[in-house]
Amino acid sequence: MAVGTYIGEIARGVFPGGTLIDEPPWEHAQALTRTRKLVEDKETTAIFEAAFEHDGVRTRVDILERDGNRWHIHEVKSSSSVKPEHVTDLTIQVHVLLGSGIDVASAGIMHVNKHYVRGEEGLNWQQYFARTDLSDELNETFVDVPDEISNHFDILNRDAAPDIEMTSSCKGCDYWGLCSADKPEHWVEALPNLSPRKWGELAALNIEDIRDIPDDFPLTKTQDRMRQVLINGETYVSSGLWKSLKGLGPPAAYLDFETMAPAIPLYIGTHPYQKIPFQWSLHQLDAFGNLFHNEFLAIGDDDPRRSFSEGLISVLEGSNEPILVYSSFERTTLNDMIKLFPDLKVGLLSIVDRLKDLLPIVRGHIYHKDFRGKFSIKNVAPALAPHVDYSELEGVADGLAASTAFERIAYGKLGKGESVPELRASLLKYCKLDTLAMVEVHRALMTSDWENDEFYHLTDYIDEKEKTKQTLKRGLLAFLNYVEKIEYEKLSKSE
Ligand code: SF4
Repeated sequence: MAVGTYIGEIARGVFPGGTLIDEPPWEHAQALTRTRKLVEDKETTAIFEAAFEHDGVRTRVDILERDGNRWHIHEVKSSSSVKPEHVTDLTIQVHVLLGSGIDVASAGIMHVNKHYVRGEEGLNWQQYFARTDLSDELNETFVDVPDEISNHFDILNRDAAPDIEMTSSCKGCDYWGLCSADKPEHWVEALPNLSPRKWGELAALNIEDIRDIPDDFPLTKTQDRMRQVLINGETYVSSGLWKSLKGLGPPAAYLDFETMAPAIPLYIGTHPYQKIPFQWSLHQLDAFGNLFHNEFLAIGDDDPRRSFSEGLISVLEGSNEPILVYSSFERTTLNDMIKLFPDLKVGLLSIVDRLKDLLPIVRGHIYHKDFRGKFSIKNVAPALAPHVDYSELEGVADGLAASTAFERIAYGKLGKGESVPELRASLLKYCKLDTLAMVEVHRALMTSDWENDEFYHLTDYIDEKEKTKQTLKRGLLAFLNYVEKIEYEKLSKSE
């Protein structure tokens, strides 16, 4: 069940004695009749999913609460604050209810109280929800409602959808795929960090394809790099790449965390949407090209943060290689754990001090056409190391899917056909692939010849000072050994 639906159901518990209009949307007439009867019955204290219709607009109110002869409208949202679209929704609802003869006393949003902390006694739903009364705001927007409704019906009655130029505000829209279907393969939207203003300027020049952007159009360094790579077809590698890899090994470790932020706090002392780490994957590549793997995945029935931290400390204790990550996320999470567990500070700090972030190195020193304007490990790894294949993952294939899969395990609310062992296996496979992808990105950065897709000779690359030369040489040799082992493994499997 989606979290919004679940929270909507829980909110009804705050109004004991209420009656649910459980007719589905296609039984609207029956829902209207039942709602009308309940409104007229003085014994009714609250109606859930109350149905109304006015001006051709149908609506269902999450919670309608009686106050004498008047009614309070409560729309339930799983967000932790009120968003502009909530005000629009509510304005339409009030219009329909007033038109249906309901005396509306107030209208507001019941949303998640982000300051609520789960106590030892369990969840307190009265405290979990916060209510923001929007009656005053609604009065201001109310005059435009009939015109807006008439505009919407006008659009709905047309034979074709209106021809609207897509802008940055389209991001997140459910119809993104449909509206952008005829855009060119290298649509300007893919430019990294394209500001709405620049997008508008390109639209004004009628430019949709990145390759058509003129040389003198002001782009950022990274945006222009992408444009150049698409025009000339050659991967960009900066002359500073080699130097930036100094101090990153191998020997090196590769670390990735998965976290969840459950809307309903699962553990004592946590608040809604608090980040809770529940999984890590660690690959370690030694100086001889041997690759080892360790992992942690919480059970879910208990707060995992302490065992998550202790497990990581224990597996990294006694080693001193750099720990490569791919974003600042792991550093932030470990710093949170240090604040939470002062007794683990020394062990956790020793990990934090060894973290090295690969992401800024990739972003600053290399661009491959298949990055498609994005520098996430899922875009970068398959481009630089084509054998890294995220498409083989089933079920859990990105961070959001990992987070929601673990939440379902922890809440004990599995989807249809799901099982805990299968979800756990998908989570382990996904996180392991992320750290393996980091190994491969590091290897590709150190060893690939971008023009010929062959390994550089060591001497072609190494013209730095002797110290740098020796460190990098050792790392490069480790990678060459690693590749040899992988090739050998592939060979033995195929025989
Ligand atoms: S993507 Fe959404 S907001 Fe943008 S034009 Fe299409 S329907 Fe409108």
